[in-house]
Order: sequence, then C-alpha cells, then structure tokens
Amino acid sequence: MQLPVATAAPAREPHVPAQKPPVDPASLTYRQLQRGEFWRKLPAYAEIDERTFLDHSWQAKHSITRPDKLIEALKDLVSPLFLEDAKAGFSRSPMSVRVSPYLMSLIDWSHPYDDPLRRQFIPVASRMMADHPKLDLDSLNEQGDAPVPGLTHRYPDKALFLALDTCPVYCRFCTRSYAVGLDTEEVEKVNLRASQDRWARAFAYIASRPELEDIVVSGGDAYQLRAAQLTEISDALLAMPNIRRVRFATKGPAVMPQKILTDLAWRDALVGAVDKGRRLHKEVVLHTHFNHPNEITGITEDAMNALFERGVTVRNQCVLQRRVNDTPETMALLVKRLGHVHVVPYYVYMHDLVRGVEDLRTTLDTALHIEKHVRGATAGFHTPTFVVDAPGGGGKRDVHSYEYYDRETGVSVFTSPNVKKGAYYLYFDPLHSLSEAARRRWEEPAEQELMVDNAIVRARRQAR
Ligand SMILES: *Cc1c(COP(=O)(O)O)cnc(C)c1O
Ligand code: SF4
Repeated sequence: MQLPVATAAPAREPHVPAQKPPVDPASLTYRQLQRGEFWRKLPAYAEIDERTFLDHSWQAKHSITRPDKLIEALKDLVSPLFLEDAKAGFSRSPMSVRVSPYLMSLIDWSHPYDDPLRRQFIPVASRMMADHPKLDLDSLNEQGDAPVPGLTHRYPDKALFLALDTCPVYCRFCTRSYAVGLDTEEVEKVNLRASQDRWARAFAYIASRPELEDIVVSGGDAYQLRAAQLTEISDALLAMPNIRRVRFATKGPAVMPQKILTDLAWRDALVGAVDKGRRLHKEVVLHTHFNHPNEITGITEDAMNALFERGVTVRNQCVLQRRVNDTPETMALLVKRLGHVHVVPYYVYMHDLVRGVEDLRTTLDTALHIEKHVRGATAGFHTPTFVVDAPGGGGKRDVHSYEYYDRETGVSVFTSPNVKKGAYYLYFDPLHSLSEAARRRWEEPAEQELMVDNAIVRARRQAR
C-alpha cells in the first residue's frame, strides 16, 4: 500500500521527540457548560427555583408569544428603544413567535442586538433587510413533491412526514413558515394539523412504496407529539416491512431540554420506540437542531446523558446564520461541544431562501471557508457535511459540489442526479454580501435574467 507522504516535511533534529505540549485545560472551553441557577438573572424568573425551571410544562406555559409578554419579562433589562424595535419586528415577521423561558435566560440582555440567540428567535424591525428577488415562500417546493398533504417524497428511498404543525419555539428562519405556527399578519398558513385521517393516508402511501425505507418524522416538531402519538407513529412505521429507519426530528433539546428530564412519558415513548426498532433490527433515532454553543448547558448535558444511557442516538442539523454561527471559531466550538454531550453533528445547512430573514443569510463562500476550518478539528464522524437544500426541490447538495459559482453575482448552480436528471438548481447569496455594482444589477429584471442564464450556461459546460 502506498502511504501518503507530505511533500515538504519540516526539518527536525533527529533526537527531538515529535510531541505536542499538553494544552492548558482552561482552553478547552467546549467542556465548560453553564450550570447553576442562571435564569434568576432575569427579573421575571428571579423567584423561580430549580424544580420549577426544570419542569417542562412550566417552560411551555411560560413561553413568550406576544410582545407585551416580552416587555413584561424584560422589564428594565433593555432599553425602551429595543422593545419598540422588537414590537415592530413581531408585527412584520412571517413567523409566529414563541420563546421558552430557558432561551430567554440564555440571551445576554446587556447586548440584545448582538446576541446570537436573540437574533434567531426575536425579530427586530431595524435589522430587517429586503428579500432577495428570487425568493419564494415554500422555497424547497415541499408541497410540490407531496403525494399526500404533509408527506414529501423527493428522494428514491426516503421521505419526509410532517406529522403536525406546531413547535416548542418558533425560529425566525423556519423553512416551513408556509405551514408551521399560527397565521401571522404576513402569512396565512397551509393546514398540517395532527389528524388521524391525514396520518392514515400518509402511512398508506408509505406502505405502498417498496422503495421507501427511511422516514423523517418532523413538522412542526416531534416534541409536540403526545407520548401516545409518538408511539402510534413509530409502531405504524416499524410494522411496515419496507421501513428500515425512522428519525424523529425535534428542536426540543436545543430550546427546552427540560422535557427529556421531566416528561418521562414522552422520554419513555421515545426510548420504547428505539428499543422496539432495535429488536426488529431497525433504526430509530432523534435528530435535533442546535445552532450555537450557548444553546448547550449543563441541563442539556444531563438530558443528552439520559438518552445516551438508554442507547438513543441523537444527531444534529444546524443552520448557518450570519452573525450567529458564521465564523470558524463559533462553528468549531459548536461541533466540539455537541460531541462532548454525545450529539453527532450531521449537517450544516445553508440558510434557505425564506421571507423576512435576509439579515440571517450568508454566502456559499462563507460555508466553504468554515468547512475547511472545521474539518480536522475532531473525529471525522463528528464532522458535519455542509449542504445547500437546493431551492426548487433539488434536495441536499454538498456545498463543494456546485457546477458553477459566481462570487460576484452570488449565483451558484447545482445538479441533483438522484432527484431529477438534467435539472439545474440555483442558490443565491444575499444581496447585502455583494458589491454595490452587483446589487444594482439585481434591481433590473432584465439583468437578473441575464445573470441566471449565464450561470446556467456555464454550469452546463461543467456538469457531468
Ligand atoms: C432532508 C430530507 C430528507 C432526509 O435527507 P437526509 O439527507 O437523508 O438527511 C428526506 N426527505 C426530504 C424531503 C428532505 O428534505
Ligand atoms: S423548530 Fe423547526 S419547524 Fe419549528 S419553527 Fe423552528 S425551524 Fe421551523
């Protein structure tokens, strides 16, 4: 076997051992998790004891869904200007708002504009930016690929089942703002409520397709399923001979890890599904969604350990967001901290083309840069793949696999042979990342067509 040889080996004295000095343990910050009663810093939770704060139903009941509640919870912590800004942000947002007390207490309210968690969950009008001209509401075309409402069958062997349309919190950047959450002033949503009838139609379709063997149960969010519903879904899927893998997708561990520690019926339902799957030689796992190292605390560690002890695999799907996690340092810290609490970093997604969150999008070039600096920092199986979920329904593509990428216009072109041979899928960097001249071109419809056509022509020359 030929071993790879470094071409320019550094000169070294033969008797000096090739050793790295031990690092200062204090520098291993990914192991330093916030513990103690950190929530008491917020006036609203100053009197809340640990038992109450760990209670999942208390968390759910005290989640903030209206600006007046936000103002009440923050009292004198932030400036009136910020509160006004947030109020205006709520009314212009296409997403409903729901923030758990846990998240509220992880935000640094002395710098609310800069805080990476605030940016993800609480809109402020002054930071909003105009949408990209190429942006559609269901940018992934999930409804176009749905044989049954709430079941997207795009790939050959796997499908996405949207079991319900609510979540423990609402993220500003949600791809499914077309369906998830309550109607807002901006968007009237598609109805994907949990319904026996809709589920039965989805199960019948899945059972009728021998090629389907892998089902993602999402929404909305599997945290919102009652324990009995979770069991009902996993039993139905595991009973199908064609099904080999089931994943339950939930944001929960990142925004309300308390549930795993105190909603024992739900946890037992999940562990029960995993155990039953294992007996049938089928895999049932949990997929979750941490975006920033600050979302991982001692409570998270306890919750993830509770699942780890019982053999539940947890994987993470993260969204790359501007000024949230768009530096190599932050992403590397997230990846290491996830590994530390036994969550496997699976994907980092380019931010989808979603309405009202252009301030959170970043460029393909940023993803390429960060990936380079994350790979090698830890085990390969803890190194996430950076992907674009190609707008228009192309599916997930490795960010490096573009057929063409013009950094000047921000247009990248992907192909997806397993989804649709011969089709070209485009992603668009946000306009705020482009040069003044390029931004002006995007104001002209004729120029837009030109930039898109040119990119496709060049991609066609490249593609194989
Ligand atoms: C993401 C997704 C899946 C699962 O894809 P993986 O790459 O296996 O995680 C399946 N169906 C749809 C429609 C999806 O968006
Ligand atoms: S938890 Fe997931 S589905 Fe729910 S709002 Fe956030 S991104 Fe959307």
